[in-house]
Amino acid sequence: MSGVLDDVPESHRDLLRSALTATLTTIDGRGRPHSTAVWYLVDEDGQLKGSITSDAGATVSDAYGPRRSLAQDEAAAVMVASDRTCCVCRIPGRPVQLHHIDGDRTNADPANFAVLCLDCHNETQVSGGFGRGLNAAQVRLYRDAWVAAVAERLRGQVRDIGRRAAAGEPVIGAPPERPDDVIDRVLEEAEQSARLALRHMEAVLEREVRGLLASSGWGQGRYDWTPADAIERLHELGVVSQSLHRSFKVFETGVQTVVAGNAPISTEDLLRALDVGAFTYRALTAIPRERHYVVHANLAVYRDDGGRDLVPGVFAVVLRTIGPRPRSPRDQAFLSTKSDYAVGAEVSWRWADQPPRVLGPAWYLDPPTDQYAEVASVDFQGIPLTEIA
Ligand SMILES: [Zn+2]
Repeated sequence: MSGVLDDVPESHRDLLRSALTATLTTIDGRGRPHSTAVWYLVDEDGQLKGSITSDAGATVSDAYGPRRSLAQDEAAAVMVASDRTCCVCRIPGRPVQLHHIDGDRTNADPANFAVLCLDCHNETQVSGGFGRGLNAAQVRLYRDAWVAAVAERLRGQVRDIGRRAAAGEPVIGAPPERPDDVIDRVLEEAEQSARLALRHMEAVLEREVRGLLASSGWGQGRYDWTPADAIERLHELGVVSQSLHRSFKVFETGVQTVVAGNAPISTEDLLRALDVGAFTYRALTAIPRERHYVVHANLAVYRDDGGRDLVPGVFAVVLRTIGPRPRSPRDQAFLSTKSDYAVGAEVSWRWADQPPRVLGPAWYLDPPTDQYAEVASVDFQGIPLTEIA
């Protein structure tokens, strides 16, 4: 150990002496696991000193590894510039890795890296033959073209959001907060108190489970599900796998043990529970679901197609439904006795109680076409997801 310690900067040696290591496994959108080694450093009083984002961890990793790796922030920058997408095939969602373009694993110049999926990476290992395989010059061309395309797309998105915001229009279908950001925040909290972070993780998980149940109508219009009942229901429906169901239970049991506080809880137990919570949360957020956003709200409704005979107490609401992939966004009008929908809000998928009351046929003036459109529907009663959790 002393030989290795000599290579590690003095400022980071404490990590090697007393660090606990753990493996955080996450599941991507295609259900594939990715494992990351994580260093923890814990004081006697249970304070978490090192964290997942610690640069010290990367330094220790460098000292051990035979290959020179990029500093974490540089690696992140390369990933972001390529939108975490392979620059050769450009297929979104594939697991990717950083590839040393010149094949020299000690060359840590950021310009020497390209983001490649595993298949395309294999192509770089093929040489000779009839022009098959990818050489370094080709990978550089692919990388530069893709990075430029990503930058242009980002500029377009920023312009688009800027335009809509300037026009006072809400942004519809804004993606929910990234799971990584949520988990980072919880783990930062763990540096102060692992117990507090555990309670925070519990709240995050509960919100996700209730939201998942509500967003696609799997909750049968009820919003009072306890997290335990909600996960049972999602499991019954086949939305949540056996293993995810189990990891949720393991986390809940861990939290209850901590909350009961009868026996002293070791720091390892706290960190293990946090680890299970992070895994469970990430897997839940990866479950494909429909999301419904209010595009037009509280539109007047008529019994005729000329706007003469107003129907009191009934309104049209136009919803944009997005996902699950790869279905493209689609807009549809519904009738509702609710008149307080906010444009841009993500709402649950819910109808008035059984038996459904059919409110149509009726007509409303469709804003984009400025034409009267017919709509017949039962009473739509979705509520903003932000009100559920
Ligand atoms: Zn690829």
